[in-house]
This record gives sequence, C-alpha cells and structure tokens, in this order.
Amino acid sequence: MRVLHALFVTLALPAALSSAAARPVTEADLRKHIEILASDDFEGRAPGTEGERKTLDYLRNAWSKAGVKAGAADGSWLQPVEFVKRGPKTADVQFYARGEKIRVVGDELLLIGRESEYQREKLPAVFVGHGVNAAGEVNADVSGKLVFVLSDSAEFLPRELRQMRARREKLLKAGAEGVIAISGEQFNYPAYRRALMSRPIVWAEKDLAVGVEGVASPQYMVALVTAAGGDWDKMRAAAQAADYGGQTLQLSADLSVTSDVRRFTSSNIIGKLPGRKPSTGAIVFMGHWDHLGICRPEGEPDRICNGAVDNASGMAVITEVARRLARQRHDRDIYFIGTTAEESGLWGAYAFAANPVVPLDQIKAVFNIDTIAIAPRGSKVAIIGRGKTSFDPDIERVAQKLGRKIEPSTDANAFLQRQDGWALMQKGVASFMVGGSFADLGKLDAFLKGPYHGPEDEVTADLQLGGAAEDSDLHVALGQYFANARKFPPKKPEKGTGG
Ligand SMILES: [Zn+2]
Repeated sequence: MRVLHALFVTLALPAALSSAAARPVTEADLRKHIEILASDDFEGRAPGTEGERKTLDYLRNAWSKAGVKAGAADGSWLQPVEFVKRGPKTADVQFYARGEKIRVVGDELLLIGRESEYQREKLPAVFVGHGVNAAGEVNADVSGKLVFVLSDSAEFLPRELRQMRARREKLLKAGAEGVIAISGEQFNYPAYRRALMSRPIVWAEKDLAVGVEGVASPQYMVALVTAAGGDWDKMRAAAQAADYGGQTLQLSADLSVTSDVRRFTSSNIIGKLPGRKPSTGAIVFMGHWDHLGICRPEGEPDRICNGAVDNASGMAVITEVARRLARQRHDRDIYFIGTTAEESGLWGAYAFAANPVVPLDQIKAVFNIDTIAIAPRGSKVAIIGRGKTSFDPDIERVAQKLGRKIEPSTDANAFLQRQDGWALMQKGVASFMVGGSFADLGKLDAFLKGPYHGPEDEVTADLQLGGAAEDSDLHVALGQYFANARKFPPKKPEKGTGG
C-alpha cells in the first residue's frame, strides 16, 4: 500500500495537483463559511459558550475535509486555554472614620471580588493619587490596604505607567488588598462601569485580580472624604505633585461583596499539513475564531454581534487556503490556528506563544488573517509588520507575481498591536498581516466607525468579498513560497538542507 501510494503520488499527481491548487478562491467559496459562522445560530462565537462548540465543530469538519490533520498535542485538534470572567453582583459597604461609622451619600461605587463571596472588616483605606511617582515606584505603603487611585494619567508619570491598567498591576504587586479606580476625564464613570459590567475575559495565567476591585466616581469621593472630615479638592490637587506620597484617610471599611465569577476552558483549534522536510521549519496561518457573542441587553431588537467581517471572514479565508495548500506537498510543516479570545486581549495567541506546538524558533513566518472582507478587488497589498523583518521583498514578489500592486507605506503598522500576530512578534517570530483590507485606511476606518463590534457586522448583501477572495489566492501563494525551503529563505539557506 505504502509503496504503491508513493508511486501514485510521484507519477500521477503533479498535473492534477497544480490545476487544483491553482483554482482561484471565489466569493461563493468564502460566503458559504461566513454564512454559517456568522449565523445567529452561532450566537456571536463567544468563548466558553455553545457558540464556541459549534464553531470548533464546524472548523474541525471543514479543515479535515480540506485535507488538514489535527495539529495540537497528542493528535488532538484543540489546545485548551483557561479563563476567568468576573462581574459585579451585590456590595454592602460601611466606612469608618477614626473608628466611627460614617454615612456616605452617593452610589457611584462598583465593586467586584476575586471570589464569588468576599468579606472583610475594618480594612484600612489609603488614597495614593496616581499610585506611582515619576520614577515609576509605588508611592505609598499599600500592603493589605484598600487603595483609592486616580485613573487619569499625569504629566510626570513614566510613559509605560500612564494607563491605569499598568498602575493597577504595580499596586497589586505591592500587596494591595483592594484597588478602587477613581474615574476621571479620560475614562468617565459610566464608561468604566460599562467595561466592568461587560465581564471581561482574562487568561487565567495573567489573572491579577486582588481581593476586591472596582471604580468610584469623583462625586463619590467628595461624599466619602467630606463624611470623613477631609477636603477632596485639596487632596486631589496635592496628588498632582510628582513626589506625592499618598495620604491615609483614617478610614477603614467593612466590605461584603458578592460577584459572578466563572472559570472556564476555551480552545485554540490547530490543524497541520505535515511537510516533506519538517527539519526546515514551519509556517503558520492564524486567525481568531471568536467574537463578542450576545453583546446587547435584553429588549434590544438585535442582541447578537455576529462578527461576519471580524473574523468569520478570516476563518473562511484560512479554510479555503488550507484546502488548496493541502493538494500539494510542501517542504515545511504548515499550521493553521484558529485562536480564542482575541477580542478580549489576544489571549489565545498569547497562550499559543507560551505553549507552542512547534518550537517558536522553527516558525519561519506567521500570517495572521483578520477582518479581511472590507476591500474590493484590485486593492493594493499592505503589510502589517512592514519594516520589522527582512521578508518584505519576498512578500512583495509573491504579490506582484499575482498582479497585485503594493502599498509602500508603513501606515498599516498602526494596527500592529491590535492583532494576534503581535503575541508572536513579541517573542521574535516574524509575523505579518498581508492584504487589501489594510491598504485603504479610509475604507477600514469607515468599517471601524460603522458596523465594527456591533450587531451590524453580519452577513448582508453588501458584504465585500471580492478583495477577500483575491487575498485568499495571495495567501495560497504565500504558503507555497514560504513553505518551500529552497525559495525561502533564499539568503540564509538552512544547515543540512543543502539547498
Ligand atoms: Zn474585533
């Protein structure tokens, strides 16, 4: 069998293969997948939901029909990733000033506990201004305390600590028991509240939740500090100094907080086309399968964020690229990865980068495919990641061979950190997004200001698939080129391949 099969491959396949591989991807090929992945039945593909199960089932079937093999550990298709998701339920709060109960007139305080039930008595409270000084050090003793911190940035803060998220991390590492952000102008109370109410998903390995955290409005701080006999305006003004050292409020708090805490497992899906010369490395096509799920409150007419463009379109492209690449043998292993939880922070991609199925230094190139159905046929080809490696001329050559024009600017790099390839790029892996969607930033902007991340990103008659089909062909060609050990890398032939 084996020998006969090999003979058959050698003698009969090349002609049949090249014609099959060359059949261009059509808009109908892509639409068929997008209509299913972005249907209401898949409920917006949120990680940890029935929509995830349906999505992964669909992709596993489509990929294995396309000729792709399971590519995760132990012959499985799935790489599990652990997540935590928290949301507020109830909070009873009693403050004390110098040991006496005080009454605070205000309700703009929202608290979430690390565990579903959190209770503490006489927890000391401290106001720390922005929380760090100009040198980037935590500015007060916060250990075991409930910390109130201004969320707005300040001139004196080091660049990397201007975001509240980064300062929060500093305070947690310094041992804070609770962190309450005071909303400001950059992120006001309703916006903060909405963000916390939306139950953001966090990769369990990056979970830094304190005992309790939350947000208070400046109005609430006025009420609290006044009730404690202080002057909020003075405290706030003092906190603008670069050498501010925080202020104990002679305040303590009894907290009884219940929260909605859910720990769950989601998965990256990983397929593989084994190469003839796996020692020459691997290339990766990547795209996120997840989207925002049920994203509007009860009572709204359309509650599902279907994510047709973002990123059912990318998964459709990967599936059709895989089908065509599977009809030829390649030197290198080719991996296809559908990542989870991109929408909440590229988590699936980070999890893959931390636990790759092939050592990262063997991955020659990663092509991420996201939000691809925006540009019409004939669009120029932009490269997100342009200038970061020496591979731009190779990518351009492949695109030009297909008659595509090149967008020479690096404008598209504005999206570098907003896509899954970033997780791998930070670990030194050459990662790109290549195609038409990011060549016309005006069109992209219209999408971002329009249907993006709303229920309107769904399958409609004017879904733009011409450019996506063309970009699919481009990715087939990129796969053929980059998986060919003799063509690439041309300048640095690998040891032992003799090419
Ligand atoms: Zn998105």
